[in-house]
This record gives sequence, structure tokens and C-alpha cells, in this order.
Amino acid sequence: MSEIKLDHIVKDFDLRNGLKHTTIHAVKDASFTLESGKTIALVGESGSGKSTIARMITCLETPTSGTITLDGKPVPRGGRALHQYRHNVQMVFQDPFASLNPYHNIYHHLVRPMKINHLAKTEEEYEERVMKLLERVELSPAKDFMWRRPHELSGGQRQRVAIARALAPQPKILIADEPVSMLDVSLRLGVLNLLARIQQEEQLAMLYITHDLATARHFSDEIMVMYHGDIVEHGPSDEVILHPKNEYTKKLLGAAPDPDAFFRAKRDHNA
Ligand code: ADP
Repeated sequence: MSEIKLDHIVKDFDLRNGLKHTTIHAVKDASFTLESGKTIALVGESGSGKSTIARMITCLETPTSGTITLDGKPVPRGGRALHQYRHNVQMVFQDPFASLNPYHNIYHHLVRPMKINHLAKTEEEYEERVMKLLERVELSPAKDFMWRRPHELSGGQRQRVAIARALAPQPKILIADEPVSMLDVSLRLGVLNLLARIQQEEQLAMLYITHDLATARHFSDEIMVMYHGDIVEHGPSDEVILHPKNEYTKKLLGAAPDPDAFFRAKRDHNA
């Protein structure tokens, strides 16, 4: 069991433009815990602070105040411990093209984090592991994909490689920041189902950042709603969707298409 805990996290950005100095309060006071086997969805409009939370958890930003702990230990500031932390806490970004190096083939992207973590002994073992990982993200036969470069894959296949790369170092925590918003609508559900299956199989703690309340409800145990840097509502997914307490959550739900309609239509279609 693993858990990552955010305790009264604040993030301010200071902007200077000539003599003008402004402070953006991107995250005001966030506290929550992500634990093994559970998915929390973080929803809210653009600019509400969702990605800043993701970037702090993955150490791409440092909080202005507050603490983040992984299994009770504060996020390390450097050295081997930070290196280890980064392997335990992986992120899937919105744009798979931007997160994959166009010069390297898929094998290189996947074997590198395995080698850094000494997960196998021989080249054959590494190749075997890469193949297994590709099959897990449903890119099969793996041999057909391994030696291609990112531009030789479709958008959905690239995002599957990005997911495989995040899984390669055997993380405990997965942060998925709008993982399907750049994909064609027809491919989104397949990639989300894959993420949900792997999250369950590996008992990962997952933060799923999205604009989309329908998939937030369907794929998450809990929903957190962010508005202007504040977490204004947090509770079990059904509770937040069916009995929202906060005015902003009510507005979001009012503006969204019927959150269940999409899945109802899909069920009816398959029946
Ligand atoms: P979201 O992911 O919900 O769209 P973000 O976390 O990206 O929101 O942004 C929250 C706020 O912080 C926005 O006002 C954004 O402009 C600001 N912000 C984010 N990153 C930076 C940065 N590096 N420098 C200055 N302002 C930033």
C-alpha cells in the first residue's frame, strides 16, 4: 500500500513585468490523499490550478508552502532519494507527441527507465520486458511497434506508448493530466478503459485530471472540484454528481451534457 498526501499546499507564481509585480495564487490551500487502488478525478475549468497540483506532485514545481509526503516521507529535495521518488510517481501528459522524443524509437523510450532501475540483467530480458509492456497497453504484436519512431504511430498508439513509458519504472502513483483530450473522440474511451484496467491490476494510486464530468464519474472513486485555486468540493463520485453541494459544482453540472448519457448510449448500442 502506498499513499501520497498533500497537506495545506499553496502555490503562488510571482510575475514581474517592468516595475509591475503581480502574484497569481494558482493553488490556495489543497489537502487530499491519493492511495493505492483508488482513482481521484480532479475537475475544473482551465486555469483553476489542476496542472499546477500535478506538477507539484511530480516535482516539476515546488510548493510555496505546505507539505507533500509519499508513504509518510516528505518529497526529497535532491540526490538518489529524489530520483527514486520520480520513478515512483509518474505522469501521463496531454500531448503524447510532446512527451516522446522524435529521434528515438519506442524500444528506446521504454527500455531506458527499466535500465536506469536495473529491472533486468541481459539485453534479452530487457527486450522481453519491453514486449510484455507493449502487449499490456494493447500494442500487439509488440515486434511491429518496438522499432518504430513516434511519428510512425497514430495518436492513440502514441498515447499508449506514453502510458507504457510511465509504467516502465513500476510506479506506485500515476498522474494522468487530461490524458485523452488531444485524441480523436472515437479513441478516448479505449485509452481510458486501458488506464482504468492497469490502475486496478497494479493497484496504483491515480489522479485523473479532466474537464469531463462523465468520465470523471465513470472512472473515479472520488471527485474533487477546483475553482480559482481552491478545492471547493471533494467526495465520492456519485455523491458529487448526484448531490452537489457547492454552487460552482452545480454550475459545472448544469453546463455539462447529461454525464450519464454517453455511457447509457454506449451500453444500449452494445446490448
Ligand atoms: P489548469 O490546469 O486548471 O488549467 P493551471 O494549473 O495550468 O490550471 O494554472 C493555474 C493558474 O496558474 C493560471 O492562472 C495559470 O496562468 C497560472 N500558472 C500556471 N503555471 C504558471 C507559471 N509557470 N508561471 C506563471 N503562472 C502560471
